[in-house]
Amino acid sequence: MTPAQQSLVDEIRARFGERAAITDAADIEPWLTDWRGRWHGRAGAILQPSSTREVAAIVGLAGERGIALVPQGGNTSMVGGATPPEDGSALILSLRRMNRIRSIDPAAMRVEAEAGVILQSLHEAVAADGIRFPLTLGARGSETVGGLISTNAGGTQVLRFGPMRTLVDGIEGVLPDGTIHSGLSGLKKDNRGTSIDQLLIGAEGTLGVVTAARLKLFPALHSRAVAWLGLGSPQAALDTLRVLESETDRIEGFEILPDESLKAVLSHVAGTRAPLGEDHGWHALVEAVADSSKVEPPAELLARLLAPLIECGLIEDATISSSEAQAEAFWRIRDSLSEAERATFGPATQHDISVPVDAMPRFMDEAAREVERSFPGVHASGFGHLGDGNIHFHVRAGERGGPDWLRREGPAVTRLVHDLVTAAGGSISAEHGIGVMKKEELERLSPDRVRILRAIKRSLDPKTVMNPGKLV
Ligand SMILES: Cc1cc2nc3c(=O)[nH]c(=O)nc-3n(C[C@H](O)[C@H](O)[C@H](O)COP(=O)(O)OP(=O)(O)OC[C@H]3O[C@@H](n4cnc5c(N)ncnc54)[C@H](O)[C@@H]3O)c2cc1C
Repeated sequence: MTPAQQSLVDEIRARFGERAAITDAADIEPWLTDWRGRWHGRAGAILQPSSTREVAAIVGLAGERGIALVPQGGNTSMVGGATPPEDGSALILSLRRMNRIRSIDPAAMRVEAEAGVILQSLHEAVAADGIRFPLTLGARGSETVGGLISTNAGGTQVLRFGPMRTLVDGIEGVLPDGTIHSGLSGLKKDNRGTSIDQLLIGAEGTLGVVTAARLKLFPALHSRAVAWLGLGSPQAALDTLRVLESETDRIEGFEILPDESLKAVLSHVAGTRAPLGEDHGWHALVEAVADSSKVEPPAELLARLLAPLIECGLIEDATISSSEAQAEAFWRIRDSLSEAERATFGPATQHDISVPVDAMPRFMDEAAREVERSFPGVHASGFGHLGDGNIHFHVRAGERGGPDWLRREGPAVTRLVHDLVTAAGGSISAEHGIGVMKKEELERLSPDRVRILRAIKRSLDPKTVMNPGKLV
């Protein structure tokens, strides 16, 4: 630690107790590397405030002394967003101790949760009141409310509920100069200029620290059913989704994956089983729900809507979960994809991209062909949230492999994929954010956007206290 960092840590401990800072190297180590293991930083301490007042004091002091802070929740960022810089110039500001659910209001259908509340704990807490928070994703056992807001996370329920931004009703946060912003009053209408809440959503910790949020809740599901479909192509999957959407508004999830990804899960994740008897080129997982007992049960709804699509050959085969355990087993396959691919396929460049929904099947096909033509021997494919026009498009080293493939060729592959996405009117970051991973690419492909983001950053954080080196 530099002398300035040490004196900040000493002052924070003196004011807020020993627990407010961790300096033991072994305790810090697990939080220095990102989830994918691609970025490794250094930090002499993890500051861990227990209240908004403490966060404000820490940010204020850090600003006065020119010490940068890296806000961190569950450290599940896919883009190195929560990893400190390599030179040790920043301290980590962990929100994990701020993990209280302040209130649940079933009448207003709102929950007020601190930034460090883990998504799964939030699900469980509101479920006890017979309501639910719908956003969910694979890392729900680790990721936090603050991280979800700061990355405007998506997940598997966006089709019906939108991303995190649409589920936030108010934010409490600390701005880079230590000012506390409180947006938790629950006002339905508030037009006092540009929304500060909205500035903090998706800002990746570069414009301030989210300390708590008021989030929208929805009636608990009465029941759900999950269908697993065998399909010939992403286009067949999209055509299926369009038919389902024209018949019902009760489809909550629609995810696709190629057969090789299913096989990766089956070989890597203990206890998983192939949902269908035969092989299919593509698979889709479809979730239908019922909010009450008065509507057609989801399994019957799916059976009724899918039968004609099987008959006409659009769907090759399908099975519908007959129990909650089976529905969970189908989702477990989907949720294990990232982990299984990482363990099974070796080096790959990963691209979290979006294009207009109807253009996605063609994009997947053409982009895969173009990448494989330009880099003979690689294999390109995608999986994910087809219904949102968001695919995780991965290019695997294949025959071009070797330990240094990522370093040697990865950037060129990524540039090609991003050029194709941009030409298709899409986004190089659909839901994971920019972090350190996509910073240069954002600047290359969206210079006007970066200019505006930098102007906002400069005016709110002129001393670059918050998350240096990320986003812009
Ligand atoms: C297996 C797996 C599956 C995933 N699936 C999805 C998916 O389907 N959709 C999706 O969108 N993402 C997905 N992610 C990515 C990740 O879970 C999200 O980005 C998540 O929102 C990060 O939350 P976190 O608490 O771990 O934040 P961290 O990783 O700790 O931080 C993420 C970013 O937010 C900032 N930050 C964190 N907390 C705060 C705070 N309180 N105030 C200000 N800034 C803060 C950090 O500085 C960093 O820039 C997945 C990740 C994994 C590992």
